[in-house]
Amino acid sequence: MSRGGFGSKDISDTFQEFLTGCAKVVMSLGGLATAISVGLLVFTCFKVGSDTTSASQMAEAVRNVGIFQKVLVVGVLGLGIGASYMFWGGEFLGAVQLALAAALYFAPLYLPSMLGDKSTEATQGAYGALQMGGSVLGIIGLIVVIIDVAIRVKQRVETGAKADQIKYGKGVKEESDKQNILLGKCWQLPFCRKFVREKCPIYLSKRTCWKELVGCMCEEAVIRAAMDDKPIPKDALLAANYIPQNNKLTMSQKKERCNSCIIYNEHQRHKYKVTMPAVVLTWALVWGLLHGPLIDAVTSLVEKINHVVNVGTLGAAGNYKPPTFFVESMLAVVMIIILTYGMKLVEFLYFKIKV
Ligand code: SF4
Ligand code: SF4
Repeated sequence: MSRGGFGSKDISDTFQEFLTGCAKVVMSLGGLATAISVGLLVFTCFKVGSDTTSASQMAEAVRNVGIFQKVLVVGVLGLGIGASYMFWGGEFLGAVQLALAAALYFAPLYLPSMLGDKSTEATQGAYGALQMGGSVLGIIGLIVVIIDVAIRVKQRVETGAKADQIKYGKGVKEESDKQNILLGKCWQLPFCRKFVREKCPIYLSKRTCWKELVGCMCEEAVIRAAMDDKPIPKDALLAANYIPQNNKLTMSQKKERCNSCIIYNEHQRHKYKVTMPAVVLTWALVWGLLHGPLIDAVTSLVEKINHVVNVGTLGAAGNYKPPTFFVESMLAVVMIIILTYGMKLVEFLYFKIKV
């Protein structure tokens, strides 16, 4: 039986290593194909963007652009999927993919002024190919960011901070007759143990341990008082005089204790559960109520960039009026990115720096 267990573990490890090896190869080959095809497309813009290009050279360039586009699309697919597997869960995976995608997608806005080219069939094809590569990578990046945030939100709502971040109260089980009041005080949360609570000056004074910076998970005196059955007045004001003082630790050391305590983590989880719907609701309201002004802002941004490029290329870029579908899609992508990074920010605030 146990041999079977080891055997299946070996098989899953070997399969995992095989998948990692495949992802590495796919990512490397994809990266190489992307770099080569982008280089060749940029070179094409440089080479055939002059008046001296003959008709046959132009036809050959257009044919080549078609091939480079196919290589670029396959390349970014390999690069995006391989990198997603290799660096899954990494903080910057989605952001880097989206930044690369944006650099490719917006190439027609900055490349003409850098290369000083004229608009030809081949250069237009090359810019279109770069945009296609950017779109494919952008879709992969967007999917990665959305899945990553959805998994993080689910985990944070269920467990709060990761178990390895907990030092105080690790392994303490929730009380069977637990309370769990949303945004409650420490004694209204599931880790307040009944036998300590009844003799706890924090509870009897109706205060909160993380505000006093001493409590049952970090101060021996609180537990000792409960074990020794030390009498504490039931009056809230008098009970407050029995809250132990710890002068050996600094304020920041005490806060540090709370940051790695299961009770404070539960409090953070409650804040997260309340903030998340508020963030999504605010986001939806902004999108819905300010849709008109947001569309105007995106349209004007695209037109301004086009104007700058047009001036830089001495009118070669022409006056671009972005179609409605393009502006709506761009706004949707920007809004999705804002929401996902807004959620990541909330997670960072509550579970990394623990505000
Ligand atoms: S310090 Fe601990 S025992 Fe006291 S009230 Fe808070 S959670 Fe309960
Ligand atoms: S470490 Fe902070 S949250 Fe945990 S019991 Fe002590 S005071 Fe309360």
